[in-house]
Amino acid sequence: MQGEATITTHLSGYNAHGRPDPETKQVSSSHTIVVGAGIVGVSAAYYLAKRGHRVTLIDKGDLASGVSFGSAGIIAIGHPPLPRPGLVKQVLKWMLDGGSPLYVPPRFDLAMARWFWEFRRACTEAHFQYSMDMLARLGREAKVCFEQIMSDEAMSSVYHRDGWLEIFRTEEGLAEGLRHAELLERYEFDVEILDGNELHRRQPAFKDGVVGAVMFSDSSFMDPHQFLIALAKRAEAHGAVIRTNAEMMEVLVREGRFVGVRLLSGQRLEADTLVLATGIWTTALARKIGFMVPMQAGKGYHRNITLPKPCLTIASVLAETHVAVTPLPDMLRLSGTVEFSGINHHMVQKRLDMLTAAARHYLQGIGETQTVSEWCGLRPCTADGLPVVGWAPRLAGVFVATGHARLGFTLGPVTGKLVSECILDGEPSIDITPMRVDRFGSRRRWGPTAPRVPAPSAAG
Ligand SMILES: Cc1cc2nc3c(=O)[nH]c(=O)nc-3n(C[C@H](O)[C@H](O)[C@H](O)COP(=O)(O)OP(=O)(O)OC[C@H]3O[C@@H](n4cnc5c(N)ncnc54)[C@H](O)[C@@H]3O)c2cc1C
Repeated sequence: MQGEATITTHLSGYNAHGRPDPETKQVSSSHTIVVGAGIVGVSAAYYLAKRGHRVTLIDKGDLASGVSFGSAGIIAIGHPPLPRPGLVKQVLKWMLDGGSPLYVPPRFDLAMARWFWEFRRACTEAHFQYSMDMLARLGREAKVCFEQIMSDEAMSSVYHRDGWLEIFRTEEGLAEGLRHAELLERYEFDVEILDGNELHRRQPAFKDGVVGAVMFSDSSFMDPHQFLIALAKRAEAHGAVIRTNAEMMEVLVREGRFVGVRLLSGQRLEADTLVLATGIWTTALARKIGFMVPMQAGKGYHRNITLPKPCLTIASVLAETHVAVTPLPDMLRLSGTVEFSGINHHMVQKRLDMLTAAARHYLQGIGETQTVSEWCGLRPCTADGLPVVGWAPRLAGVFVATGHARLGFTLGPVTGKLVSECILDGEPSIDITPMRVDRFGSRRRWGPTAPRVPAPSAAG
């Protein structure tokens, strides 16, 4: 770190905590490095570049080489977090069943045990309401962001505004679905209930055993990879520099303030703001530079298959199995399962086969399809079910944007916009307190009873 004489440490427009100074709103952040070219990092680079800010986006692999590559592409606005009342009992049952949507292979891991402990604490009614309020706020803004991007960047061809469906084969499942629909209606999202006949009229690809569906009509879906690549191109067109195969090895700090990064190649890049949009890898990176972002990898799988005949035309979640089915331009994507088996990309054949088995139960023609490709990716999951979006504690100039678990594609663009607002305006357009970084640690600072304003620390 010594010898970086060209780097200034006193940046006007920033307060002692490394946050842009709300007094002056004169922000002098002149160069931001965004690490991680998943949906969150690409969105942050896009919004920063669009406002004329100098930004470099780096990734250790290619664009979308993390979990953003293979999601179901459903924009599930207003959808609830993973921790919810009653889920602990359900999770314990699932843990004992290798064929369930959630799988935790038996292993001793203290960090995971702690995570589950915190997860258990988050499964209360009060915390659920608190998280829902935040996610609904984000969801409404997420829709605005997608619509804006589509019109500003002429990208509508990749966007399907038809909503998406949750499909039920059992009356118990449908009853649960109706409760879910009521919850979303309470938050003023649009839902429509379809009986089996109406569903078959609209989507003849479903088998006769299906009893009904909930349509989330103000949501949408798309090919997530196609969208990410198109957005990255637009970020470049607005001036962002994108460097792939550029792994960040070290965060360079001087007098408690971020000043640059060192890449695997040995090259140093100077900047005054760092955005860590590094998905599941953020936990280890944050630990190295002195703060905590405890997350577990929720491994999910997809299997792309040739198009069945007939084929559904709208993305759907097969509710009882938690498997998503997304029609892509020339194939059908089956995706799902959450497996807490650590940070690895080992694929368990049985879990891939479960995707096809689920689809066979609900859809016609699956038996005649062929597998095109298979994949797994690691969702960054916090124990309290909320993303992590905010300035890092005790290290000025470092911003964190991760932890979106099952909703990262939905919330990527709005998170990118919030990142740009925090860096360029000094404050975000919506209250993001529940997602702050310093909620983790020995003192409990998350949940409905957490202090609204972070206690000041040495450097933010
Ligand atoms: C099967 C499946 C289905 C899903 N379906 C949906 C869905 O329908 N809707 C939805 O909203 N969400 C969905 N998700 C969740 C969504 O995919 C994730 O929440 C989201 O992609 C997370 O994006 P990210 O940018 O935070 O992380 P990532 O995409 O993992 O990006 C992080 C990037 O950081 C890079 N990186 C890490 N460390 C370094 C370093 N030191 N130097 C440089 N680069 C580094 C990595 O290479 C990676 O590219 C799904 C997930 C799965 C697994």
